[in-house]
Amino acid sequence: PAPLAGRIALVTGAASGIGKAIATRLAKEGACVVIADLDASKAQEAAASLGSTDVAVGIAANVTSATEIQAAIDETLLAFGGLDLVVNNAGLSLSKSLLETTEADWDLQHNVMAKGSFLVSRAAAKVLIDQQLGGDIVYISSKNSVFAGPNNIAYSATKADQAHQVRLLAAELGEHGIRVNGINPDGVVRGSGIFAGGWGAKRAAVYGVPEEKLGEYYAQRTLLKREVLPENVANAVFVLVGSDLSHTTGLHIPVDAGVAAA
Ligand code: NAD
Repeated sequence: PAPLAGRIALVTGAASGIGKAIATRLAKEGACVVIADLDASKAQEAAASLGSTDVAVGIAANVTSATEIQAAIDETLLAFGGLDLVVNNAGLSLSKSLLETTEADWDLQHNVMAKGSFLVSRAAAKVLIDQQLGGDIVYISSKNSVFAGPNNIAYSATKADQAHQVRLLAAELGEHGIRVNGINPDGVVRGSGIFAGGWGAKRAAVYGVPEEKLGEYYAQRTLLKREVLPENVANAVFVLVGSDLSHTTGLHIPVDAGVAAA
């Protein structure tokens, strides 16, 4: 059987970019997948690209709303009869300096990523604990959760919050056989809505390179001289949730072609 046959996954923010690549990989490995994102039709379109509604469904859920998250979890249970694996991927970046960052900016970044992933993990953990079958929660955090850079204080602070949620939940949920791990990507330019939606232009300005050369710029500062693609992050998620890492929890895997190690 496929490695993830019989597993049921919920991936937030999976209508685009890294989340879509994760959902695609999980489905390819045999999991049934629920794609939750802000826009219902985009979520449904992404799900349809994975196969029929027997294997993938797309739903609208804003992760800042406990009610919408609960509805997404309920729909997952209704569609596929259970839940085994949750990926906290939904995110955005305003890419602002300290002096540019308004209170509203701070609140938005933290509501979507720190609060949003807390709400998703809480709702999912309740189901996982009740099922008594263990499970996986994966956070797509960032290299920025550990390393500082200019012009992204609210984004980086909320990524650090997510990283600590990984450790806290690994400690709290371990006795239920629930593993909680994270991924720290960096420089996923191609395919990323965050980069296309303004972050890329701002990063290019910070680094003094043309925006269309940003992928190359990121690649050149890595140890491996490779551009990181959404699929590379998806590969790491697959490794984390596969049975070969059954004794690993509270870990963050960098997917940055070595930039954090440089
Ligand atoms: P993306 O814009 O392509 O994907 C983000 C998705 O999240 C979008 O589909 C968006 O609609 C969704 N989303 C935003 N707010 C939401 C909300 N309130 N509720 C539900 N969905 C919401 O960008 P991406 O680069 O694929 O980013 C995915 C994740 O990876 C983010 O958490 C981001 O911080 C993280 N990340 C990205 C990079 C990178 O280099 N691109 C690096 C480190 C971490």
